[in-house]
Amino acid sequence: MKKFTLFGNPVEHSKSPQMHNFAMKHLGLDGIYTKTLLENENSLKQALENFDAANITVPFKEKAYQICDLIKGKANDIKAVNTIIKKNDKLIGYNTDIDGFLEAIDEFGEFESALILGAGGSAKAVAFALKEKNPLILNRSEKRLDFFRQNGFKTATFNQFQGGKFELIINTTSAGLNEEIYPIKEQILEQIFQKAKFAFDLIYHQTPFLKLAQKCNLASKNGEDMLVFQGAIALSLFFSKTQNVKEIANLMKKALN
Ligand code: NDP
Repeated sequence: MKKFTLFGNPVEHSKSPQMHNFAMKHLGLDGIYTKTLLENENSLKQALENFDAANITVPFKEKAYQICDLIKGKANDIKAVNTIIKKNDKLIGYNTDIDGFLEAIDEFGEFESALILGAGGSAKAVAFALKEKNPLILNRSEKRLDFFRQNGFKTATFNQFQGGKFELIINTTSAGLNEEIYPIKEQILEQIFQKAKFAFDLIYHQTPFLKLAQKCNLASKNGEDMLVFQGAIALSLFFSKTQNVKEIANLMKKALN
Protein backbone atom coordinates (compact mmCIF):
# COMPACT_ATOMS: atom_id res chain seq x y z
CA MET A 1 0.00 0.00 0.00
CA LYS A 2 1.28 3.48 -0.91
CA LYS A 3 1.47 6.04 1.90
CA PHE A 4 0.76 9.74 1.37
CA THR A 5 0.35 12.67 3.75
CA LEU A 6 -0.23 16.39 3.96
CA PHE A 7 2.40 18.33 5.93
CA GLY A 8 1.38 21.70 7.36
CA ASN A 9 0.78 23.74 10.47
CA PRO A 10 -2.11 23.84 11.12
CA VAL A 11 -3.47 20.80 9.23
CA GLU A 12 -6.39 19.85 11.42
CA HIS A 13 -8.94 21.67 9.23
CA SER A 14 -7.72 20.09 5.98
CA LYS A 15 -10.14 18.18 3.77
CA SER A 16 -7.35 16.63 1.68
CA PRO A 17 -7.44 13.18 3.38
CA GLN A 18 -11.22 13.01 2.81
CA MET A 19 -10.76 13.89 -0.89
CA HIS A 20 -7.78 11.64 -1.61
CA ASN A 21 -8.99 8.57 0.31
CA PHE A 22 -12.44 8.72 -1.30
CA ALA A 23 -10.94 9.04 -4.80
CA MET A 24 -8.42 6.22 -4.26
CA LYS A 25 -11.12 3.91 -2.90
CA HIS A 26 -13.40 4.52 -5.88
CA LEU A 27 -10.59 4.12 -8.41
CA GLY A 28 -9.36 0.92 -6.78
CA LEU A 29 -5.97 2.44 -5.95
CA ASP A 30 -4.06 0.92 -3.06
CA GLY A 31 -3.10 3.89 -0.92
CA ILE A 32 -3.78 5.81 2.26
CA TYR A 33 -3.58 9.60 2.77
CA THR A 34 -3.14 11.12 6.23
CA LYS A 35 -2.33 14.56 7.64
CA THR A 36 0.83 15.32 9.58
CA LEU A 37 1.30 18.33 11.82
CA LEU A 38 4.89 19.50 11.52
CA GLU A 39 6.30 21.76 14.21
CA ASN A 40 9.58 22.60 12.56
CA GLU A 41 10.41 22.98 8.85
CA ASN A 42 13.83 21.43 9.40
CA SER A 43 12.21 18.07 10.11
CA LEU A 44 10.36 17.96 6.77
CA LYS A 45 12.98 15.95 4.89
CA GLN A 46 13.24 13.32 7.59
CA ALA A 47 9.47 13.14 8.03
CA LEU A 48 9.12 12.41 4.31
CA GLU A 49 11.03 9.14 4.79
CA ASN A 50 7.83 7.49 6.03
CA PHE A 51 5.87 8.27 2.85
CA ASP A 52 5.89 7.57 -0.90
CA ALA A 53 4.75 11.10 -1.72
CA ALA A 54 3.25 14.11 0.05
CA ASN A 55 1.48 17.40 -0.24
CA ILE A 56 2.81 20.42 1.57
CA THR A 57 0.77 23.36 2.77
CA VAL A 58 1.32 26.60 4.68
CA PRO A 59 3.90 27.44 5.99
CA PHE A 60 6.26 24.85 4.50
CA LYS A 61 5.95 25.27 0.71
CA GLU A 62 9.20 27.29 0.43
CA LYS A 63 11.12 24.78 2.57
CA ALA A 64 9.69 21.97 0.43
CA TYR A 65 11.09 23.72 -2.64
CA GLN A 66 14.54 23.92 -1.03
CA ILE A 67 14.80 20.24 -0.10
CA CYS A 68 13.87 18.81 -3.52
CA ASP A 69 16.51 17.29 -5.80
CA LEU A 70 14.57 18.25 -8.93
CA ILE A 71 11.84 20.84 -9.51
CA LYS A 72 9.33 20.46 -12.33
CA GLY A 73 7.33 23.14 -14.13
CA LYS A 74 6.23 26.49 -12.77
CA ALA A 75 7.23 25.60 -9.19
CA ASN A 76 10.59 26.94 -10.37
CA ASP A 77 9.09 30.40 -10.89
CA ILE A 78 7.34 30.73 -7.56
CA LYS A 79 10.00 28.83 -5.62
CA ALA A 80 7.31 26.98 -3.70
CA VAL A 81 6.35 23.31 -3.86
CA ASN A 82 3.07 21.73 -2.73
CA THR A 83 3.67 18.18 -4.02
CA ILE A 84 6.73 15.96 -3.54
CA ILE A 85 7.11 12.56 -5.18
CA LYS A 86 9.94 10.16 -4.31
CA LYS A 87 11.58 8.50 -7.29
CA ASN A 88 14.74 6.38 -6.96
CA ASP A 89 15.41 8.05 -3.59
CA LYS A 90 15.27 11.51 -5.17
CA LEU A 91 12.67 14.12 -4.20
CA ILE A 92 10.83 15.60 -7.18
CA GLY A 93 8.90 18.82 -6.50
CA TYR A 94 5.81 20.22 -8.26
CA ASN A 95 3.35 23.01 -7.64
CA THR A 96 -0.16 21.91 -8.54
CA ASP A 97 -1.82 25.12 -7.22
CA ILE A 98 -0.99 26.83 -10.52
CA ASP A 99 -2.70 24.32 -12.81
CA GLY A 100 -5.39 23.78 -10.19
CA PHE A 101 -6.28 27.46 -10.41
CA LEU A 102 -6.28 27.39 -14.24
CA GLU A 103 -8.60 24.36 -14.28
CA ALA A 104 -10.92 26.07 -11.79
CA ILE A 105 -11.33 29.22 -13.90
CA ASP A 106 -11.59 27.32 -17.18
CA GLU A 107 -15.39 27.49 -17.18
CA PHE A 108 -15.29 31.31 -17.25
CA GLY A 109 -14.01 31.17 -20.84
CA GLU A 110 -11.95 33.91 -22.48
CA PHE A 111 -10.76 37.05 -20.70
CA GLU A 112 -8.17 39.66 -21.60
CA SER A 113 -7.05 41.23 -18.33
CA ALA A 114 -6.84 40.38 -14.63
CA LEU A 115 -6.52 42.04 -11.24
CA ILE A 116 -5.10 40.03 -8.34
CA LEU A 117 -5.93 41.22 -4.83
CA GLY A 118 -3.26 40.13 -2.34
CA ALA A 119 0.43 39.33 -2.64
CA GLY A 120 0.95 36.27 -0.41
CA GLY A 121 1.87 32.67 -1.26
CA SER A 122 -1.30 31.89 -3.20
CA ALA A 123 -1.05 35.14 -5.17
CA LYS A 124 2.31 33.93 -6.52
CA ALA A 125 0.68 30.79 -7.96
CA VAL A 126 -2.20 32.81 -9.44
CA ALA A 127 0.13 35.48 -10.86
CA PHE A 128 2.34 32.96 -12.68
CA ALA A 129 -0.74 31.08 -13.90
CA LEU A 130 -1.96 34.33 -15.50
CA LYS A 131 1.43 35.76 -16.52
CA GLU A 132 0.55 36.06 -20.20
CA LYS A 133 -2.43 38.30 -19.30
CA ASN A 134 -0.03 40.74 -17.60
CA PRO A 135 -2.11 40.97 -14.39
CA LEU A 136 -1.89 43.81 -11.88
CA ILE A 137 -1.06 42.70 -8.33
CA LEU A 138 -2.78 44.96 -5.81
CA ASN A 139 -1.90 44.70 -2.11
CA ARG A 140 -2.72 46.75 0.98
CA SER A 141 0.97 46.97 1.95
CA GLU A 142 4.24 47.34 0.07
CA LYS A 143 6.58 44.63 1.33
CA ARG A 144 5.24 41.52 -0.38
CA LEU A 145 5.02 43.30 -3.76
CA ASP A 146 8.84 43.17 -4.16
CA PHE A 147 8.75 39.55 -5.32
CA PHE A 148 6.24 40.40 -8.05
CA ARG A 149 8.12 43.46 -9.30
CA GLN A 150 11.34 41.44 -9.45
CA ASN A 151 9.50 38.92 -11.61
CA GLY A 152 8.23 41.50 -14.05
CA PHE A 153 4.65 41.95 -12.79
CA LYS A 154 2.79 45.25 -12.56
CA THR A 155 2.09 46.06 -8.91
CA ALA A 156 0.35 48.70 -6.78
CA THR A 157 -0.55 49.29 -3.16
CA PHE A 158 -4.11 50.35 -2.35
CA ASN A 159 -2.84 53.94 -2.01
CA GLN A 160 -1.21 53.90 -5.45
CA PHE A 161 -4.13 52.25 -7.24
CA GLN A 162 -5.57 54.36 -10.08
CA GLY A 163 -8.48 52.12 -11.06
CA GLY A 164 -8.88 50.69 -14.56
CA LYS A 165 -10.70 47.97 -16.45
CA PHE A 166 -10.00 44.35 -15.54
CA GLU A 167 -12.11 41.44 -16.80
CA LEU A 168 -11.19 38.86 -14.14
CA ILE A 169 -10.85 39.87 -10.46
CA ILE A 170 -9.26 37.34 -8.08
CA ASN A 171 -9.26 37.60 -4.30
CA THR A 172 -6.20 35.81 -2.93
CA THR A 173 -6.26 37.64 0.42
CA SER A 174 -7.61 35.99 3.56
CA ALA A 175 -10.15 38.82 4.02
CA GLY A 176 -13.53 37.10 4.21
CA LEU A 177 -12.10 33.83 5.55
CA ASN A 178 -13.17 34.24 9.17
CA GLU A 179 -14.79 37.67 9.15
CA GLU A 180 -17.40 39.31 6.95
CA ILE A 181 -14.99 41.86 5.45
CA TYR A 182 -13.94 42.96 1.97
CA PRO A 183 -10.31 42.70 0.78
CA ILE A 184 -10.46 46.36 -0.32
CA LYS A 185 -12.93 49.18 0.36
CA GLU A 186 -16.43 48.19 -0.77
CA GLN A 187 -16.87 51.31 -2.88
CA ILE A 188 -13.63 50.68 -4.81
CA LEU A 189 -14.46 47.00 -5.26
CA GLU A 190 -17.87 47.91 -6.64
CA GLN A 191 -16.27 50.27 -9.18
CA ILE A 192 -13.87 47.50 -10.25
CA PHE A 193 -16.70 44.95 -10.52
CA GLN A 194 -18.81 47.27 -12.65
CA LYS A 195 -16.23 47.00 -15.45
CA ALA A 196 -15.44 43.28 -14.92
CA LYS A 197 -16.85 39.96 -16.19
CA PHE A 198 -15.65 37.36 -13.70
CA ALA A 199 -14.78 37.12 -10.00
CA PHE A 200 -12.90 34.30 -8.29
CA ASP A 201 -12.23 33.95 -4.56
CA LEU A 202 -9.64 31.44 -3.34
CA ILE A 203 -11.56 31.09 -0.07
CA TYR A 204 -13.70 27.94 -0.12
CA HIS A 205 -17.00 29.51 0.89
CA GLN A 206 -19.27 32.42 0.00
CA THR A 207 -17.54 35.68 1.02
CA PRO A 208 -18.55 39.37 1.01
CA PHE A 209 -16.31 39.68 -2.10
CA LEU A 210 -18.38 37.04 -3.93
CA LYS A 211 -21.72 38.41 -2.72
CA LEU A 212 -20.84 41.84 -4.10
CA ALA A 213 -19.69 40.27 -7.39
CA GLN A 214 -23.07 38.55 -7.72
CA LYS A 215 -24.88 41.80 -6.95
CA CYS A 216 -22.91 43.36 -9.85
CA ASN A 217 -24.00 40.44 -12.11
CA LEU A 218 -20.55 38.90 -12.53
CA ALA A 219 -20.04 35.18 -13.06
CA SER A 220 -18.27 34.08 -9.88
CA LYS A 221 -16.76 31.07 -8.11
CA ASN A 222 -15.27 30.25 -4.73
CA GLY A 223 -12.00 28.34 -4.21
CA GLU A 224 -13.41 24.84 -3.81
CA ASP A 225 -12.66 23.76 -7.39
CA MET A 226 -9.08 25.04 -7.08
CA LEU A 227 -8.66 22.91 -3.94
CA VAL A 228 -10.14 19.93 -5.75
CA PHE A 229 -8.05 20.33 -8.93
CA GLN A 230 -4.75 20.90 -7.13
CA GLY A 231 -5.52 17.68 -5.22
CA ALA A 232 -6.59 15.78 -8.35
CA ILE A 233 -3.42 16.75 -10.22
CA ALA A 234 -1.34 15.72 -7.19
CA LEU A 235 -3.06 12.32 -6.94
CA SER A 236 -2.51 11.77 -10.65
CA LEU A 237 1.21 12.47 -10.09
CA PHE A 238 1.28 10.10 -7.07
CA PHE A 239 0.21 7.31 -9.45
CA SER A 240 2.52 8.30 -12.33
CA LYS A 241 -0.26 10.01 -14.32
CA THR A 242 -2.07 6.69 -14.92
CA GLN A 243 -5.35 8.24 -13.73
CA ASN A 244 -7.51 10.85 -15.42
CA VAL A 245 -7.43 14.22 -13.60
CA LYS A 246 -11.06 15.13 -14.43
CA GLU A 247 -12.30 11.77 -13.16
CA ILE A 248 -10.32 12.15 -9.93
CA ALA A 249 -11.64 15.72 -9.54
CA ASN A 250 -15.25 14.57 -9.88
CA LEU A 251 -14.71 11.99 -7.15
CA MET A 252 -12.98 14.52 -4.90
CA LYS A 253 -15.91 16.93 -5.34
CA LYS A 254 -18.28 14.16 -4.28
CA ALA A 255 -16.13 13.54 -1.23
CA LEU A 256 -16.54 17.14 -0.15
CA ASN A 257 -20.31 17.33 -0.58
P1 NDP B 1 -0.65 34.72 2.88
O1 NDP B 1 -0.66 34.86 4.37
O2 NDP B 1 0.58 34.26 2.21
O3 NDP B 1 -1.08 36.16 2.22
C1 NDP B 1 -2.19 36.85 2.66
C2 NDP B 1 -2.42 38.09 1.77
O4 NDP B 1 -3.69 38.63 2.15
C3 NDP B 1 -1.40 39.19 1.92
O5 NDP B 1 -1.22 39.83 0.68
C4 NDP B 1 -2.09 40.15 2.92
O6 NDP B 1 -1.70 41.51 2.76
C5 NDP B 1 -3.53 40.01 2.49
N1 NDP B 1 -4.50 40.29 3.55
C6 NDP B 1 -4.69 39.59 4.69
N2 NDP B 1 -5.72 40.12 5.39
C7 NDP B 1 -6.19 41.19 4.67
C8 NDP B 1 -7.24 42.13 4.87
N3 NDP B 1 -8.00 42.11 5.95
N4 NDP B 1 -7.43 43.06 3.91
C9 NDP B 1 -6.66 43.10 2.79
N5 NDP B 1 -5.64 42.23 2.55
C10 NDP B 1 -5.41 41.28 3.48
O7 NDP B 1 -1.89 33.75 2.54
P2 NDP B 1 -2.06 32.73 1.32
O8 NDP B 1 -1.76 33.44 0.05
O9 NDP B 1 -1.35 31.46 1.63
O10 NDP B 1 -3.64 32.38 1.42
C11 NDP B 1 -4.61 33.39 1.19
C12 NDP B 1 -6.01 32.79 1.11
O11 NDP B 1 -6.11 31.88 0.03
C13 NDP B 1 -6.42 32.02 2.36
O12 NDP B 1 -7.75 32.39 2.67
C14 NDP B 1 -6.36 30.56 1.94
O13 NDP B 1 -7.33 29.80 2.62
C15 NDP B 1 -6.70 30.67 0.46
N6 NDP B 1 -6.10 29.58 -0.35
C16 NDP B 1 -6.92 28.80 -1.12
C17 NDP B 1 -6.40 27.81 -1.95
C18 NDP B 1 -7.32 26.99 -2.77
O14 NDP B 1 -6.90 25.93 -3.24
N7 NDP B 1 -8.54 27.42 -3.00
C19 NDP B 1 -4.95 27.56 -2.03
C20 NDP B 1 -4.17 28.44 -1.19
C21 NDP B 1 -4.74 29.40 -0.39
P3 NDP B 1 -0.37 42.10 3.50
O15 NDP B 1 0.80 41.74 2.62
O16 NDP B 1 -0.63 43.57 3.52
O17 NDP B 1 -0.31 41.48 4.85
